[in-house]
Formats: sequence, C-alpha cells, structure tokens
Amino acid sequence: MPDTSEFDSPLFRTTLHQLDTVASRLNLDPNLHERLRYPRRALVVSVPIQMDNGKTEIFIGYSVHHNTALGPTKGGLRYHSDVNLGEVTALAMLMSWKCGLFQLPYGGAKGGIRCNPRSMSSREIERMTRRYTSEIILLIGPDLDIPAPDLGTDEQVMAWVMDTYSMTQGKSVPGVVTGKPILIGGSAGRREATGRGIVYTLFRAARHLGHEVKGKRVVVQGFGNVGAVAARLLWREGCTIVGISDVKGGVYSPRGLDLRQLEAHAAESGSVSGFPDADRVTNAELLELPCDILIPAAIGSQIREDNASRIKASIIAEGANGPTTPEADQILRERGVTVVPDILANGGGVVVSYFEWVQGLQFYFWRESEILSRLQEVMTRAFNRIWAVAQKEGTDLRTAALMEGIRRVAEGFRIRGLYP
Ligand code: NAD
Repeated sequence: MPDTSEFDSPLFRTTLHQLDTVASRLNLDPNLHERLRYPRRALVVSVPIQMDNGKTEIFIGYSVHHNTALGPTKGGLRYHSDVNLGEVTALAMLMSWKCGLFQLPYGGAKGGIRCNPRSMSSREIERMTRRYTSEIILLIGPDLDIPAPDLGTDEQVMAWVMDTYSMTQGKSVPGVVTGKPILIGGSAGRREATGRGIVYTLFRAARHLGHEVKGKRVVVQGFGNVGAVAARLLWREGCTIVGISDVKGGVYSPRGLDLRQLEAHAAESGSVSGFPDADRVTNAELLELPCDILIPAAIGSQIREDNASRIKASIIAEGANGPTTPEADQILRERGVTVVPDILANGGGVVVSYFEWVQGLQFYFWRESEILSRLQEVMTRAFNRIWAVAQKEGTDLRTAALMEGIRRVAEGFRIRGLYP
C-alpha cells in the first residue's frame, strides 16, 4: 500500500487499523478500500496573530476533508495543544464513518489549530479564529464544508467563523457553520445535543442488556459541552454521579455529587476541582473509580492497555472521539464490558447540526420539542440497527458501527465511480 506517512499519528494509525480490519470483514473492493485510506484534501496554514502584549505569534492550523462521496463535508473545529495533521485527518475519517452510520448527507471533515485557548484572551481567540477562517476560506461554505464546535471551541467561535465568512461574501451566510448562537441562525437543542445523544444511547444499551439506567453510578471525564450536559441529564434521570473531572483534576464522592452545586462551583472557580464535600482524584484515578457507567468526554487515548483491566464500569459510552486504544478495546471486550463507540454515542451533535443546517437553508426554524423527538428517533434507530448488526455478525458495537459507516461511504464511492 502507498505511503501515508505525512498523516502519521497514534489516532491515524488506530483509524487506519480499524478501516483495514473492517474492510476485510466487509470483503470490500480493494480499490474502494484504498481510496478510503486517504483524505480527499488537506490544507495546512500558518495563522499569525498579534497577541495582546503586541508580539506576533504564529499558530499552525489545519483543514481536512476526508470524503465527499455522500455530500458536503462536516466536522468539528478543535483548538488544543495536541492538534496536528495526523490527528485532524483521523478525526475527519471518523466523521465520514459517523455521518455514514447516521445516514446523513455528509462526508467527514475536521479543522483545528494547535494552541492552548485557556492561556489566550477572548480577543486573541477571536483574531486567531478570523485569520484562520480567511486562510481556509476556499474550503468552507454551506455546500462545501460546514464546521461545528469541538474540543476548545464553542458557539462564540462559530459566530466569528460565520461573521468572517459572511464579510467576504457581502451577505450573511448562516449555513457555513452549525453550533452557532440561536439569535444568528443556530438551532434549539444543539448545545446539549451531543450529551443528550449519549444519554439516549445509554438508555438503549441498558434496555438491550436488561438493566435500568436509573440508580446507576456514573463517572464522567471532561466537564465541557459534552461531559457536563451528559452528567446533568443523567443526574436528572436519577443516576448517582460519583466522579467528574476536567483538565485540572477530578472530584469523587461515593454518595454522589450535587450537579447544580458542582456547576455553580465550576462556573465560579473555573474548574470542578476543589469542590467541597468530595475527594480530589487525578484524571488517571477517576477512570478507575468504582462505578457502573463511565463516560470519557475529554480527549483521546485515555483508556489504554495499562489501565483497561482496572476499569470498573460495565458500560462505557464514548463521548470523546477516540478515547479507547485498540489494545484497551480488546481487553474490555474480553472482560465483557459494553463499549458504545464514539461514532455512535457522540453522534447527537452532528445529527442536530444537520437539523440546524436544514433549518438555516430553509430559513424556517423548528420548536425544541420537535428537535428533541427527531434526535431521539434518529439515535434510537441507529443504535438498534448497530445492535442488530453486532448480534448478527457476532461482534462488538464498535466493529458493527464501523461496518455500517464504512459500508455506506464505500457504496457512495462505488455508485459515483472514479473521476475522470
Ligand atoms: P470542551 O472544550 O467543551 O470540553 C472539554 C473538557 O475536557 C473540559 O472540561 C476540559 O477541561 C477537559 N479536558 C481537556 N483536556 C483534558 C485532559 N487532558 N484531561 C482531562 N480533561 C481534559 O469540549 P467538548 O465539546 O465537550 O468535547 C469533548 C470531547 O467530545 C472531544 O473529544 C470532542 O471531539 C468530542 N465531541 C464533541 C462534540 C460536540 O458537539 N462538542 C461532538 C462529538 C464529539
């Protein structure tokens, strides 16, 4: 096989390995398989910014479109110190499978800037976002690539991307991003969609396994858009949230954390750590706490060969993208732990992003109740389909989800043929 070394990174190696394994299971035409191993296009840009202290700093940014067989591309924009071409390419590939599995009319993409947004002022992040948007402007648009929030970005960042793009077009183009504020064309329910989707899939998983979600002990890594929403919704459903962390560390209380008080503490102090009436734990310790459900909702490669055997949860719902390494996956499988994989568990975000895009293109907005019931329907259907594939193929949910996603993208390639 030709060289893919410019995209090399741990996550890219993992996603390629997943693709190769599933391709042989699916008996995929080798010509289609080969095309799926590469992104369609990747752009690397330098993003020079004047910092508040007057100095110029350069950040490196990426925009990768993995695949356009099923439609324009879609994926998150990530601001994090680990961002590199290989990681962004792998995340774009995972988006292709995710959109395929949810039967959305999109290919996969991802954007990112290597930076530490926590050490930057809001003005600096705005200048960086606007300059990055102008550098990649040829690759984004409502029918080309539609970014959304991811790790380190939020609806304010999406507003700046939309405004910058709109200025170059001489008109407002809300459809260029999703996950933007409701006032400028965002969708009701988008902010909570990923966390809510995780909860829907957990309910489905529990039902298939013959459990109740209510009363379960839950640990969540990450207290951002995904983790905080999932934790709050599960708390409201009667789960005991025993542990939560963010980048600064975690807190543990076997009696359960009061989510309302924890949110207030985090809003005031900037972190969950230091929350009274709870023990401090490190992020590594958090993953191994006694619990029934574990939700990794921060960064990749957190569940690895060296800690997988000590994970106590019987169900893992992956909020983050790529939180489990293939070696850990194998250990968890052997131990009978049910892993609801990232491309299934965290798909609620892209599903409601799709709803936002459709609403924006039609300038007609739906009620929140309508969005939530459609989200629930899409997530439930996808979960049941993947569960059935897993049963039929005698495989785990990750393999089944990848089979569904990859099969659909490959089929798109086959039907469209190879240009020229
Ligand atoms: P976010 O920036 O809102 O929150 C991230 C959280 O993780 C924060 O609490 C942060 O402190 C914590 N964190 C960061 N680095 C950490 C570390 N090294 N150890 C422990 N905690 C750390 O991001 P988000 O939007 O919630 O995204 C979280 C994960 O979910 C990412 O992997 C992202 O790709 C994935 N995801 C997000 C969406 C979405 O709609 N936002 C959709 C699908 C998947």
